[in-house]
Amino acid sequence: MSGCLQSPKVRKKVNKVREITVTRSTTVGEALAMLDKAASGLLLLVRDNTTFERTVTDGDLRRLLLNGKQLDARLVDLPSIESIVVHDNVSRRDALGLMNQHGINHLPVVDRNGHVVQVLDRRDIDRQILLSTPHLGDSEQDFVQEAFRTNWIAPLGPNVDAFERELADYVGMTHAAAVSSGTAAIHLALILLGVTKGDTVFCSSLTFAASANPIVYQGAEPVFIDSDEESWNMSPMALERALAAAEKVGRLPKAVIVVSLYGQSANMDPLVALCERFGVPLVEDAAESLGAKYKGRASGTFGKLGIYSFNGNKIITTSGGGMLVSDDRELIEKAKFLATQARDPAPHYQHSVIGYNYRMSNILAGVGRGQLTVLEERVAARRAVFDRYRSALSDVGINWMPEPEWSFSTHWLTACTIDPATGVSSERLIKALAAEMIEARPVWKPMHMQPVFQHCQYFTGGGPSVSDRLFEQGVCLPSGSNMMMADVDRIIDVIRKTISG
Ligand SMILES: *Cc1c(COP(=O)(O)O)cnc(C)c1O
Repeated sequence: MSGCLQSPKVRKKVNKVREITVTRSTTVGEALAMLDKAASGLLLLVRDNTTFERTVTDGDLRRLLLNGKQLDARLVDLPSIESIVVHDNVSRRDALGLMNQHGINHLPVVDRNGHVVQVLDRRDIDRQILLSTPHLGDSEQDFVQEAFRTNWIAPLGPNVDAFERELADYVGMTHAAAVSSGTAAIHLALILLGVTKGDTVFCSSLTFAASANPIVYQGAEPVFIDSDEESWNMSPMALERALAAAEKVGRLPKAVIVVSLYGQSANMDPLVALCERFGVPLVEDAAESLGAKYKGRASGTFGKLGIYSFNGNKIITTSGGGMLVSDDRELIEKAKFLATQARDPAPHYQHSVIGYNYRMSNILAGVGRGQLTVLEERVAARRAVFDRYRSALSDVGINWMPEPEWSFSTHWLTACTIDPATGVSSERLIKALAAEMIEARPVWKPMHMQPVFQHCQYFTGGGPSVSDRLFEQGVCLPSGSNMMMADVDRIIDVIRKTISG
């Protein structure tokens, strides 16, 4: 192909290579000046003016001078050594492995003809793109500093009260309790609903283990419910089958935990109606869907209790933390009581029930207040990342997690399935991305497939298991709100190359 069609990016790389190319007739002085000017840390010695021979570092030039050569001596006396080079199909991970193995920071990339096309710099390639990283705003520090200034590091305190009020207002619930994690919030929700040994609790199967583990903390038995195709969240049909079966044997669950995955609400109206019909309270695990809406109303506000998580990978974070929300003042007051060691109102330490140490600190609540002020920006940024993926990869056999007309998804994670017709498995795509230092993950492995829950009952909507298929074909792509679009484009390139060959 002719050079005139080269992109500016490629042209820049070629110019850069030219600037650091020397021959045996270059002088030591000229080479030193080039090294100094290019600030590249190395020069490329070529023979016959074209093919690569070896790299030259300032150490090599210093040794020539120490051996008595003058600045006007030519590079003829540089020993011929075999420099490490890579070819242009090298993966970032392999290139880094070579750099580590040989203790070097640069690697020339040569083409089939032995011409250097580019020099890889450790600083450029040693940066992993992660799935979802914390993204702080400008005001977190102010709230935290206020806590320091007033020496209100712990316990509880004004930031906790304010964070609870602000989050409750934001989602449109009347009461909230800030706690140490989303898992703690789910645990408290189950305790408040009276879940105890021998009970059953229904829970979405396609989720993170933290949705279900608190059921077992209470000595109760989880029963897992399949997803539907339209939202990837709990299938109303599967829930109806499970509730009907439970009623038949006189063993209705103490609660139903509905999870809203990857920034998208479950189809709440039919799920709420079913729970009402069978008289079972609903807990919404909205750990991944803060900022999302169902028919215009905030995700996490449809159950008797809702929970959010502020773990480091969530859409906003307090490094670790969670929130329990409800319109029932008594429930939230009881949650706060249980979460602070269940101390009875007495002058001495008196306890009538078992308590927990589950509250959020005043420092972390300060971080949360700051994060809440940028939540909408974070939602917009994550949605923009998703839009970029979707528009650039519309023709390669990727099916995006659907966003039904009743849903406003935050796209906390861009999730998709790979069409089996592409011949590329999700596992292969994830590996190809990992080789380019890009962290992608499979979709959650359903709970009914987990060794620890293998004995538990599982209900589909009647047909084949949807969550099994989503796990088999699903991939979550890096989706951080602080990602650069250039990073998204880099990921898109790798996906295209992997799927379209
Ligand atoms: C993160 C998460 C949790 C747990 O929240 P933590 O704050 O990490 O304890 C629960 N459920 C789901 C679906 C989650 O993604």
